[in-house]
Amino acid sequence: MLNVVIFGPPGSGKGTQSEKIIAKYGFAHISTGDILRQEIKEQTELGKQAKAFIDKGELVPDATIIDMLEKKLESLTTAQGVIFDGFPRTVDQAGALKKMLRKRGEDVNVMLNLEVQREELIQRLLKRGEVSGRSDDNLETIEKRIRVYEEQTAPVIEFYKAEGSYHAILGEGAIDDIFGRISSAIENAQ
Ligand code: ADP
Repeated sequence: MLNVVIFGPPGSGKGTQSEKIIAKYGFAHISTGDILRQEIKEQTELGKQAKAFIDKGELVPDATIIDMLEKKLESLTTAQGVIFDGFPRTVDQAGALKKMLRKRGEDVNVMLNLEVQREELIQRLLKRGEVSGRSDDNLETIEKRIRVYEEQTAPVIEFYKAEGSYHAILGEGAIDDIFGRISSAIENAQ
């Protein structure tokens, strides 16, 4: 069982690369962003609360996200591995994930940090906004999300460096070249 965290700023390609990892390795996928968007679509209580944060480009509170993640993890049937996409996004979430996995006798095996320059992130997200219909893919919210990433999420990098599972991945260039770098990191950990 391999637990992989795919990490990086908004627009770094976590979702795109997750799909390729799933196709190649058959891992289960947990994307907190996707779960939240589904809750919003279904107009659940959680979805209503989350929408206000997402539309402002802010993080949904840790307690809500951690509870949601734990339920999702419990509902997973056995897979060869799990890919965590968009989680953890704060150091507290990283600590909570470690605790949850420890209860199952597991840990995060690989943390992949997709590194992409700020200008490239903004261009990608603006382009995605033209087709995604996502309420948070507009310039003002994109800039806010990148600021929130730098302040609240980037410290997670130090957490995984200390854990010894950290891998920096160049997230620019051709999608397949990026995936090649990711595959090497995953296979070296297996
Ligand atoms: P992106 O990486 O492009 O920002 P996501 O789909 O991962 O896209 O996240 C969209 C939004 O959902 C975030 O801006 C945030 O408001 C909320 N969100 C997703 N995951 C988390 C999380 N782990 N903790 C807090 N908020 C989250």
